[in-house]
Amino acid sequence: MSSVKKHLDVIIIGAGVAGMSAALWCDELKLKAVILEKENRPGGQLHIIYNRIENHLGIKAKDGADLYKRFLKHLESRNISIKTSVNISKVDLERKEILLSDGKKLSATNLIIATGVRRRKLNIEGEDEFQGKGILTSGKKDAEKVRGKTVCIIGGGDAALENALILSQKAKKVFLIHRREDFRARSEFIEKVKNNGKIEVLTNTVAKKIIGHSCVEGVELEDLTTKQSFFIPVQSVLIRIGVEPNTELFKDQVETDSFGYIRVNENCETNLKGVFAVGDVANRLSPTISTAVGTGATAVKFISTQNFHA
Ligand SMILES: Cc1cc2nc3c(=O)[nH]c(=O)nc-3n(C[C@H](O)[C@H](O)[C@H](O)COP(=O)(O)OP(=O)(O)OC[C@H]3O[C@@H](n4cnc5c(N)ncnc54)[C@H](O)[C@@H]3O)c2cc1C
Repeated sequence: MSSVKKHLDVIIIGAGVAGMSAALWCDELKLKAVILEKENRPGGQLHIIYNRIENHLGIKAKDGADLYKRFLKHLESRNISIKTSVNISKVDLERKEILLSDGKKLSATNLIIATGVRRRKLNIEGEDEFQGKGILTSGKKDAEKVRGKTVCIIGGGDAALENALILSQKAKKVFLIHRREDFRARSEFIEKVKNNGKIEVLTNTVAKKIIGHSCVEGVELEDLTTKQSFFIPVQSVLIRIGVEPNTELFKDQVETDSFGYIRVNENCETNLKGVFAVGDVANRLSPTISTAVGTGATAVKFISTQNFHA
């Protein structure tokens, strides 16, 4: 990859909110840039937000898709190059070179990593097999599907408890399975869950297997205190055990924290000169749309002040 001619000021990897914001600022500051996105459309997590978004200053959106349309419309009025369905096979962060699976090579003076996060998986039997066959993608979106059914929610944070409360409105019964004794969720959610007669909480318990034939019929659990396994009959399962950063492409090349998030300074610079990380992939504690927009701008403003033109 070393003979590639540098021809771009900035390559942005990932076209979620953070990548889109960085691209907007590249256009604003006349930096030659491209965004590389692996999916067939930009937007990232915006496509899985089914709740109203009312905490990004100046905008109230019906859901993530609504906000995505507004962001995209804004970008369309600018000179921005977004390449979708791109499969990156290798990134050399030190040289700032990218090899695509079709053999094409790209390089730039600066790389901005904006690859976001993905939902953590349980990695148990039945988890892949029953996707869409009883395993739900969202409490809000799939609420109607659980009407009169028994649901099992796995997790102990805000998302698990909030979804337990949402689904309890339609479900006959909700089991909330948590591997620890105490919840990490907001106290208001914990209080509401405790007082909800339809929700049965099983702490110190883990899911071992999702069982069924053509669709989910139950979950095998293990009580961590007694080491006893037992079965609960349920028709729906929702897994909410947190998220993890998308950093496989950069493994062992850039400094990360103990959770795998990319470490950055106040300018969104990583430990490598000319390599930046923005949005959720570098913000374990503040994964928000506002942070993604802000850090996208921060990195590009810093790049422009450094005169890092190709
Ligand atoms: C259900 C839900 C509700 C939420 N509600 C709110 C809310 O009300 N308010 C709020 O502020 N925030 C909310 N958030 C959080 C907010 O959506 C995120 O903080 C924000 O979208 C993060 O943007 P990002 O660009 O950093 O990452 P992402 O949106 O994760 O985008 C990363 C992009 O990088 C791409 N990518 C990953 N790997 C590669 C690769 N190897 N090559 C190329 N591309 C790659 C992905 O496909 C994706 O498009 C919510 C999130 C969820 C899931």
